[in-house]
Amino acid sequence: MIGGVLVERTVKEILPAVQRSKEGLEELGNILAKGETRYETVRDRGCLDPKNFKEFKLVKRTQISHNSAKFRFALPTPKSVLGLPVGKNIRCRGKDSQGEQVVRPYTPITLDSDVGYFELVVKMYPKGRMSHHFREMREGDYLAVRGPEGRFKYKRGQARAFGMIAGGSGITPMFQITRAILENPKDKTNVHLIYANVTLDDILLKEELDGLASKFPNQFKVYYVLNQPPEVWNGGIGYISKEMIQSHCPAPAEDIQILRCGPPPMNKAIAAHLNALGYTPKMQFEF
Ligand SMILES: Cc1cc2nc3c(=O)[nH]c(=O)nc-3n(C[C@H](O)[C@H](O)[C@H](O)COP(=O)(O)OP(=O)(O)OC[C@H]3O[C@@H](n4cnc5c(N)ncnc54)[C@H](O)[C@@H]3O)c2cc1C
Repeated sequence: MIGGVLVERTVKEILPAVQRSKEGLEELGNILAKGETRYETVRDRGCLDPKNFKEFKLVKRTQISHNSAKFRFALPTPKSVLGLPVGKNIRCRGKDSQGEQVVRPYTPITLDSDVGYFELVVKMYPKGRMSHHFREMREGDYLAVRGPEGRFKYKRGQARAFGMIAGGSGITPMFQITRAILENPKDKTNVHLIYANVTLDDILLKEELDGLASKFPNQFKVYYVLNQPPEVWNGGIGYISKEMIQSHCPAPAEDIQILRCGPPPMNKAIAAHLNALGYTPKMQFEF
């Protein structure tokens, strides 16, 4: 059944917008077929404010490696969605060990298909200022968040294939975009991820990534690279090289994009490799 509110909106505002866009028409078709009220959802239940910080309660904290944890924050109601476009990030505000205010960007690993909560995976550095805030956070505490932020917004069909090059916590935007692609049966975009870390224990979201790679073997591939690999290891060793990019990313072409997100020295090295391999600036994006 289609709610009366949606019908009214359809006539007044959605329809004109839909008529302008073929994709919008297709989307409205899906919404009506499923009886969904997704336009309403996004507009009325998105919880972010781009100008003002809003507080979200930490409801679950799970340690996932020696220096990383997953934080689940409740949204105002069990039916609320965060309202973050795929590819965008949020700004989190906290206090460092000296009590000084600090604001840093983070990318939720959840999508708007996850209702009632959002999750962050955070790597905490011993001397990191915002890391201190997250290390001290306990269930029941509140986190101040503002957004959406960021220059990248994913739209289905923007590329035939993505090469994604991530280091450490730089996996979070890649994970979010990959999930959005793979969970949409209409999205046929291919994703080739190279993910670099120091040790096996440092690899974040490994179970989830391996799960996606085995569920979508033709659409998603992941290649891990470690500085200090275990004795038995079939991934890459050392730093990400030009040869690894050639073997594991789509070749330069007008309809591919290479996304990178890692520590600044890694981003710099990868940009140099990509330039040398013939990827134009338009084919590259750095988070
Ligand atoms: C778009 C975007 C999304 C992000 N999403 C996530 C996410 O989902 N999860 C997550 O954990 N992080 C994410 N980050 C990183 C995050 O914003 C912080 O930078 C990180 O948490 C460290 O902040 P901090 O205040 O604790 O550390 P800082 O006080 O800024 O420094 C922490 C440590 O990092 C190292 N460091 C800092 N700056 C540099 C530098 N320029 N060169 C080399 N080393 C340096 C140093 O060892 C230092 O001790 C994201 C960053 C961006 C740009």
